[in-house]
Amino acid sequence: MNEDIKKELDKEFSLAVKYRDMWMCKLCGKVYYAGDPDLECSHFRRRKNYQYRWDFDNAVSLCKYDCHKKIDADPKAYEKFKITMLGEDKVNEMNLNSKKIFKYNNINYEELLGEIRTRLVEEIYRYEKLCSRY
Ligand SMILES: [Zn+2]
Repeated sequence: MNEDIKKELDKEFSLAVKYRDMWMCKLCGKVYYAGDPDLECSHFRRRKNYQYRWDFDNAVSLCKYDCHKKIDADPKAYEKFKITMLGEDKVNEMNLNSKKIFKYNNINYEELLGEIRTRLVEEIYRYEKLCSRY
């Protein structure tokens, strides 16, 4: 049951991140149409870090075939990009927190899903409002 809700959380979280980023790759600036599967949600701290798995600061939209692969293969460039996106303080804080033991069994998945769904609706609304200006 937890696996299903995690899948749903990942799906809706990733969608909300892409709407927040206006369906634009944060590395190269390429703009995608809403729903394009070639734009991916990338996590700075890997998804196994549950304390950051559904944290909006931890995720960014990247081109699936180019930027995501390119930057994953270059740890130095990734680190630089992360600091540009988050700032050094936030990166240090995340690095520190990731070393702590995190009881992910205590996550209230239902509640989290509700929060992410609300955020998704807000991001879609914002996106559509901004798009309709042009
Ligand atoms: Zn890109």
